[in-house]
Amino acid sequence: MDYEVVIVGAGPAGIFAALTLAELGIKPVLLLEQGKGLNQRNRMNPDDMLCGWGGAGAYSDGKLTLSTEVGGFLGEFLKRESLFQLLSTADEIYEAHGAPHHVFGNVSEKFEDLADRARLADLELIPMRIRHIGTEKCPLVLGRLQRALEGRVEIRTRCRVQHLLAENGRILGVKLADGQIIPSRFVIAAPGRSGASWMKKEAKSMGLKTKTNPVDIGVRVELPAPVLKEITDTTYEAKFIFHSKTFDDKVRTFCMNPYGEVVAEKNGELLTVNGHSYATRTSSNTNFSILVSSAFTEPFDDPIAYGIHIAKLANLLGGGIIIQRLGDLLAGRRSTAERIERCLTRPTLLDTTPGDLSFVLPYRHLLNIIEMLQALDKLAPGVYSRHTLLYGVETKFYSNRVELSPELETEVSNLFAIGDGAGITRGLLQASASGILASRAIAKRVKGNAKSLHNSHAKL
Ligand SMILES: Cc1cc2nc3c(=O)[nH]c(=O)nc-3n(C[C@H](O)[C@H](O)[C@H](O)COP(=O)(O)OP(=O)(O)OC[C@H]3O[C@@H](n4cnc5c(N)ncnc54)[C@H](O)[C@@H]3O)c2cc1C
Repeated sequence: MDYEVVIVGAGPAGIFAALTLAELGIKPVLLLEQGKGLNQRNRMNPDDMLCGWGGAGAYSDGKLTLSTEVGGFLGEFLKRESLFQLLSTADEIYEAHGAPHHVFGNVSEKFEDLADRARLADLELIPMRIRHIGTEKCPLVLGRLQRALEGRVEIRTRCRVQHLLAENGRILGVKLADGQIIPSRFVIAAPGRSGASWMKKEAKSMGLKTKTNPVDIGVRVELPAPVLKEITDTTYEAKFIFHSKTFDDKVRTFCMNPYGEVVAEKNGELLTVNGHSYATRTSSNTNFSILVSSAFTEPFDDPIAYGIHIAKLANLLGGGIIIQRLGDLLAGRRSTAERIERCLTRPTLLDTTPGDLSFVLPYRHLLNIIEMLQALDKLAPGVYSRHTLLYGVETKFYSNRVELSPELETEVSNLFAIGDGAGITRGLLQASASGILASRAIAKRVKGNAKSLHNSHAKL
């Protein structure tokens, strides 16, 4: 059977692309996912963490950030107002499928006051509205989205696409891992971060231009929730930007989890750190990461390799994730099990090795992080406490960016690339919005063609 559209990857980007095509009456559409169906996925199985129905979104925190400033680079393809509208559309779809109605971070007097005080501490507070689904509720929302597609889009899970097939600059379809060839007029590649290296290889074999994104490297910070209560009550998740004193580097807070838990993340062979917040289960701590962006020009231009190298160093020294009290780091000594035992912040991640992050992080990164903690302490006294815990390392790898048109079409005609795997997004809402954007462009072309076909038939 020939398909009008084949979508590769059933993460938020692929799912929203499929929903949009279904809503616009485009068919037949086939959605292919290499991982398992939602109900067969097991969050304890590392193979299921990022792959399967819902992609990385299934076990994410489900924080939908309604801001054009975060979560990706779609702002480079669309005017700010159009992007905001697209993000709002995606957000409404999530809400209609079970995301909570409440939105945190509406700009209020309290927010303005916090932003003013942040400025006095050399910090910029980015206004951002957040709808928080919560890790445990994400599968519920994703299940509803799947039901909304039933009967309208053909879905195949455990079905890996091996190659994208193109000839003379035009997409022809896809080849599956079992050798089956599926012809299709349009293909949307939405392989996510787990499929980024596949995307890079396919792009190379088709001669598509790509460029590197910077890598973000830093630590996860954990402290008693009351220290940040005023900030998290006002914003839920605060995004602070800081330009470090010594290096003038851009340093930022990321993924703040009030009353949340620090978690280990398996990235291939690497163990890195991340954080979660649940809608119902709470701890007495808040965690967030401090990240430093690193880009390189020449002769070295492989930020991902650089990030992997640093994460490997942490794994080499700590056998996994290293934990250190800020007081120990500043005193120039490692943390030990006894010192962590005496720490007033009780760690929420236990499978760690007390150690010394100064053996892992470059001087530049370490100093940037320390200077940002000092600035945050001016706004929220207690951040720079000896008892603040640092876990390392946290890295954010972004996929290579495929060169795309404003409609997210590659240089191969009728091949679109969306979401995290195309290197243009790094969050749920922008990934979902990229799916809507590409599908609208496809629907416009299909309908335009149908109309001109209809008109020429009418003339006969
Ligand atoms: C622990 C964690 C927490 C997060 N929390 C948040 C948060 O709170 N808020 C937020 O905005 N973002 C969060 N994110 C990021 C968010 O999950 C991603 O930005 C989003 O899922 C990207 O969507 P995507 O569809 O582009 O890719 P993905 O969700 O990665 O989905 C891609 C899918 O494509 C499939 N695939 C890949 N290659 C192939 C192939 N060759 N054939 C068939 N299928 C293929 C993969 O198996 C995968 O299922 C979090 C991520 C993680 C890991």
